[in-house]
Amino acid sequence: MNVILLAPPAAGKGTQAEILTSIYNLDHISTGDLLRNAANDDSIFGKELKQIMESGNLVSDDIVLEVLNRHLDTIDSFNLLLDGFPRNIYQAEKLDEILGQKNSKIDYVFLLNVPKDILLFRITGRRLCKNCGKVYNVNIASVKPEREGVCDICGGELFVRHDDNESTFNTRYDEYLKQTSPLIDYYKQKGILYEIDSSVDRDDTFAQIKKILEKTEF
Ligand code: AMP
Repeated sequence: MNVILLAPPAAGKGTQAEILTSIYNLDHISTGDLLRNAANDDSIFGKELKQIMESGNLVSDDIVLEVLNRHLDTIDSFNLLLDGFPRNIYQAEKLDEILGQKNSKIDYVFLLNVPKDILLFRITGRRLCKNCGKVYNVNIASVKPEREGVCDICGGELFVRHDDNESTFNTRYDEYLKQTSPLIDYYKQKGILYEIDSSVDRDDTFAQIKKILEKTEF
């Protein structure tokens, strides 16, 4: 099966992706992570990419699709958990084409709903492990690291993403409303959109997703 997590920034896509891939046989594909890797090299392209991402704007469709296709070439069977892709209608249509060529399709789109004020509260507390990528939040007791600045799992150093600040958050949120939210109707019309209240905590969010997957699992 192929699953999309659709959500505004800091709604919990990464956290749910972690849980879902640990339970179901899915390949987690985060275009944000793929792009951050691509932006890490010292080339002019890498620097430009970094600048766009740090501003909170979306990267061009051509670049995202290039990075995504390169990654998909390394995967044999399509059981994808897409996190951060598609971000607009054009990308969604391209994704349908890519999957169609593999006789595959999207089965579930989970829309994680969270009010804007909670998103902002979450984003300012988000910390990630430099080593294993585990996501923490210093503002939320249930997902706070045991030792400040240190990953509970691997002992790696925790860091704050450059785009996790209030001003970039506002740009990212506006981009979500303008470009990504039209996908809600796109997938509603296909009958595969499932709305999830992601405002409580990760276990509550996951319980709602699990209930839907277990009712109709492929
Ligand atoms: P994320 O990790 O999903 O929050 O993405 C971080 C940043 O990467 C976004 O603010 C965009 O600049 C860029 N990005 C990630 N996925 C996409 C996408 N599908 N289309 C365009 N830009 C993207």
